[in-house]
Amino acid sequence: MSAGLRNSQLRWASKSLSCASVLLLAVLPTMPAAAQTAAQIDLTKYGARAVELLQQFLRIDTSNPPGNEKPAAEFLCQLFTREGIECQVFEVAPGRANAYARLRGDGSKRPIILLTHTDVVTAEAQQWSVPPFSGEIRDGVLYGRGAQDTKGEGMAKAMAMIALKRERAPLARDIIFLAVADEEVSSVGTNWMIQHKRELLAGAEYLINEGSANVIEGGEVPLWGVDVAEKMPFWLRLTARGMAGHSSVPARDATTHRLARAVARVVNYETPLKVLPLAQRELCEQARVRFPHEVERFCRLEKSLGDPAFRKRLTENSEWNYLLRNTISLTVLRGGPQTNVIPAEASAELDVRLLPGEDPQRFLAEIRGVIGDPSIEVLPILRPRPAGASPTDNELWRVFEQVIARHYSKARLVPRLLASSTESPMYRQVGIASYGFYPFACSEAEADTAHGTNERISVEAYRRGVRVMHDVVAGIAIRP
Ligand SMILES: [Zn+2]
Repeated sequence: MSAGLRNSQLRWASKSLSCASVLLLAVLPTMPAAAQTAAQIDLTKYGARAVELLQQFLRIDTSNPPGNEKPAAEFLCQLFTREGIECQVFEVAPGRANAYARLRGDGSKRPIILLTHTDVVTAEAQQWSVPPFSGEIRDGVLYGRGAQDTKGEGMAKAMAMIALKRERAPLARDIIFLAVADEEVSSVGTNWMIQHKRELLAGAEYLINEGSANVIEGGEVPLWGVDVAEKMPFWLRLTARGMAGHSSVPARDATTHRLARAVARVVNYETPLKVLPLAQRELCEQARVRFPHEVERFCRLEKSLGDPAFRKRLTENSEWNYLLRNTISLTVLRGGPQTNVIPAEASAELDVRLLPGEDPQRFLAEIRGVIGDPSIEVLPILRPRPAGASPTDNELWRVFEQVIARHYSKARLVPRLLASSTESPMYRQVGIASYGFYPFACSEAEADTAHGTNERISVEAYRRGVRVMHDVVAGIAIRP
């Protein structure tokens, strides 16, 4: 199983030892002492360089809206060009651009894409203890909007490519680095790439995208998740229309009253539980780590859910509940602007997240049935992206397993169903096996700062993650 990776890295390492610039810690146990020292020195060098470059990257304000990602794309391309790696900036809208770099292999295997995005969500500077676009390091912690999501992992990917180029690693496949604009709002960058430059992605076998965080618990990382599928956002709007009027004489069928009854039915509705193989596997793995005495129950969910107490326990935990059903969150309510006026229109919006494989039209019919009032219009306001799942029985998955086992020997690698959404489904749809892989292990407090206040990552965790990312890319791309 692990022969491919280990042998290829050994061979590469022995070839490049003469350059005194070996990068791979992966092979240290089998390397002579002098080579180990050389390797450690260089790893430190690349890690330190990645931190400096990330600081510079974080200082480019790409808050979206409006994005303005072009300077970030230019920054990345300048970096690659200096290293002799071909890179192009594609302007996808005024002031907005993607960066596309490519390191050539011998073509014996199909390309791998390292995907990242350059935009970040906005930051309310007055809430932060460090300016959000300063890239400042304070007490060994690197702060900045994007440190977690996702300039940090983007720079780790860039550094992996630069290291492989500098070491003249013999590559079996092309490595494509793609940094897109506008991931956080409407995916202008990825849509543009797929519509206008599909040939530059053609033939790619794998894609590594941003992934959900891996949290350190009691000094260890018990579970290392790789996102292989995600829930499908299917947003709905409920609208009640009718006569506007004076609210001193209330009518039972006032728009707001009908809407309130419809909304109450929806929020009280319990969607059916469905155990997908992926969710079964994830919960089973969690039990092996966290509740070893309950493995039997968690690994046979169909049966265990028949027990009302167990069912209650699972569904009351929001981290488990979403894996087992379509979920509905009521997020927007609109009625009249004035207390003494019944509005002619009242509406509500629902953030529905469907399990992979669900039929949105069937769910729409289900919700209309739950509301049971044909005067309430129920319409989708977001067309769902077809959700697929990427397999776990391929070469890249085995590389993930080997690299994580090497760096975090106690961690179990587990395929995850992501609750939120990324652009991976768009690439799965064009036939590329896509994985959300986050190379860093963080404290829960740090991981929670993505999209939040004082977004940050410890410098030590960052440097370690740079090595993890490097080893994954090396493992999948270097010639066997
Ligand atoms: Zn992101």
